[in-house]
Amino acid sequence: MSTAPKTGASPSSRPATKTQLSERFKAYKHVWVFIEQERGQVHPVSWELMGAGRKLADKLNVDLAAVVIGPKGKASQAAAADSFCYGADLVYMVADTLLAHYRNEPYTKALTELVNTYKPEVLLLGATTLGRDLAGSVATTLLTGLTADCTALDVDPDGSLAATRPTFGGSLLCTIYTLNYRPQMATVRPRVMPAPKRSARPIGRIISRPLGLVEDDILTKVLSFLPDHDSAGSTLAYADVVVAGGLGLGSSENFRLARQLAAVLGGDFGCSRPLVQKGWVTSDRQIGQTGKTIRPKLYIAAGISGAVQHRVGVEGADLIVAINTDRNAPIFDFAHLGIVTDAIQFLPALTAAFRARLSLRSRDKVASSDKESPRGHRKI
Ligand SMILES: Cc1cc2nc3c(=O)[nH]c(=O)nc-3n(C[C@H](O)[C@H](O)[C@H](O)COP(=O)(O)OP(=O)(O)OC[C@H]3O[C@@H](n4cnc5c(N)ncnc54)[C@H](O)[C@@H]3O)c2cc1C
Repeated sequence: MSTAPKTGASPSSRPATKTQLSERFKAYKHVWVFIEQERGQVHPVSWELMGAGRKLADKLNVDLAAVVIGPKGKASQAAAADSFCYGADLVYMVADTLLAHYRNEPYTKALTELVNTYKPEVLLLGATTLGRDLAGSVATTLLTGLTADCTALDVDPDGSLAATRPTFGGSLLCTIYTLNYRPQMATVRPRVMPAPKRSARPIGRIISRPLGLVEDDILTKVLSFLPDHDSAGSTLAYADVVVAGGLGLGSSENFRLARQLAAVLGGDFGCSRPLVQKGWVTSDRQIGQTGKTIRPKLYIAAGISGAVQHRVGVEGADLIVAINTDRNAPIFDFAHLGIVTDAIQFLPALTAAFRARLSLRSRDKVASSDKESPRGHRKI
């Protein structure tokens, strides 16, 4: 692998020897996206990657393929059908009862064998817990490069994948190339790329392959699944409204003010990294470069300075409202609405105002539906 600064990165700035792809890799073509399924659901990051993959495939003038690995049956069939609706030209499928739950060994075998057989030049996976685990073992098995947690993907004039990600603690962006090996692998975190529109399309070509394993070949056994009900899972990343607190809230007790506002708005809550480091909030609530990326319609940041590592996780929000005592705080450089005040006093007032406003609105709704209904029955 080689790296180049983001600006000015071009094939001509790379060492000439590095651009020589060995003969055995010249047959590698097409862009693949791994479609992540867990307990019958496709993770939305897979569709976000289909959008990014489509752009890469169009630039390279090659096919975009979805890779569906999972249990036999309806869920995998539905994942394949949806892949066409999100732009796949074809689907590679390995469906087997042994793939009902994610386990590293059979999934790595399925994906590496598909790659060795059909030879994609680009392979994208979501930077989820599952995707990170799988991407790492597939890349090391195939002896190729993997760029993790990319924030942008592009194609250079010579057809190389330009995978950009933050470096030096998020203060710089670097573009990483895998020039000598194939496939060029990259992971992207949920919500970093916008989701493409789903269009109704008929099922296309599906190429199925057997897994070629029996249960005794697999060391890892899944005894049962215990959901973590306290975990933010992917709900924070996909929430329409997010309220987050930072060090400016002063204590873990005051952090509940952010939680209360989020609850009244029907949203989710998050925090800046120092709150996780202090043990005030669990790590699955951290927003930013080393936490979650969010794209809510409304993001309210209370007592957060707006460091670049936080900013990269929130700048996709439609409306950013910042509450901070320091009018020069960096968050005001990218917030759409800034409120210079003490968040500890302001949050309870804001929560009370929203509670009153929202209950008034639901009362009005009930009243108008009573009016519309001739016998005074409420519409439910
Ligand atoms: C490699 C690396 C990765 C990182 N990843 C992340 C990440 O993923 N997410 C992240 O958030 N950070 C991350 N950081 C940390 C980041 O650099 C900042 O240190 C952090 O975001 C600061 O958190 P903060 O804004 O809560 O605290 P501070 O920077 O201390 O800001 C507190 C703010 O609160 C304001 N304030 C004080 N009192 C009040 C009050 N009563 N009412 C209103 N405002 C008040 C202050 O004016 C100040 O602006 C990372 C750092 C590194 C080096």
